[in-house]
Amino acid sequence: MIVTRFAPSPTGFLHLGHAFAALTAFEAARKTGGRFLVRIEDIDTGRCRPEFEDAIFEDLAWLGIAWEEPVRRQSRHFADYENALRKLDAGGLLYPCFCTRKDIADEIARSFAAPHGPAPHESEGPLYPGTCRTLSPETRRLRIAAGESFALRLDVAKAQSQAGRELSFKEKGAGPHGEAGTQIAKPSLLGDVVLARKDMPASYHLAVVTDDALQGVTLVTRGNDLFAATHIQRLLQALFGAATPAYAHHRLILDAEGRKFSKRDAGVTLRHLRGAGVTREAISAMIGQIDHPD
Ligand code: GLU
Repeated sequence: MIVTRFAPSPTGFLHLGHAFAALTAFEAARKTGGRFLVRIEDIDTGRCRPEFEDAIFEDLAWLGIAWEEPVRRQSRHFADYENALRKLDAGGLLYPCFCTRKDIADEIARSFAAPHGPAPHESEGPLYPGTCRTLSPETRRLRIAAGESFALRLDVAKAQSQAGRELSFKEKGAGPHGEAGTQIAKPSLLGDVVLARKDMPASYHLAVVTDDALQGVTLVTRGNDLFAATHIQRLLQALFGAATPAYAHHRLILDAEGRKFSKRDAGVTLRHLRGAGVTREAISAMIGQIDHPD
């Protein structure tokens, strides 16, 4: 049976892009008699707000979407992410990163949220250069004991050799460049990703992989902009011995200038459109044909 999910973060109101993502996941489950889940991705407790969470459910119901209860809220499950982290640590796959250079500090700060921007290999943005990977155990111990803040990164090369085989996943959507069918995973696309921080035993990648496995998700539908994330998540699944869902990466809904909508675009929030008298049918016309994974 197909199990899909829509996994928004309550950091703003849902917009047209979310409507498309939610309907894609919902329809994929509905047309095969499968299950559809909503998961609230609220590990970034500083940025998430209860009013945005309430609005998510109101908007989804208005779109005609029905979901299973109880809904999983990540902020109630930190112990699960901590357990997962411990497994990786026991395998010697994590190392503390103390870097404070601005781009690296920004990357660490963003580790709670899904990496929706262009992947570093596409934007030629900087990948973490691995500065702290080779620090001696003694240096690590002393810096932690001195109270320095740090992030825990996955040693991707070591993790890949521990996984020990070529990993792949099934792409059932169009993918960003028309990649349908079996994909060989390239877990190093995002570098040594941050999986936790000194003050927080979770990150986006860790929580998503843990939850997709715990919830028995069999088909992950999400935007093309998370294609690189799938490659590292596939490696995490292998390390945890978790089943791999199929993936259907779908097109993104863009504004008139060809940019992705963001939570700052108040004019295209479902709440605003609804308030302005826009009907559900009109929303469907605005987002266009739903992608149906084969
Ligand atoms: N919470 C993530 C987001 O806001 C979910 C992405 C995913 O489906 O993995 O985009």
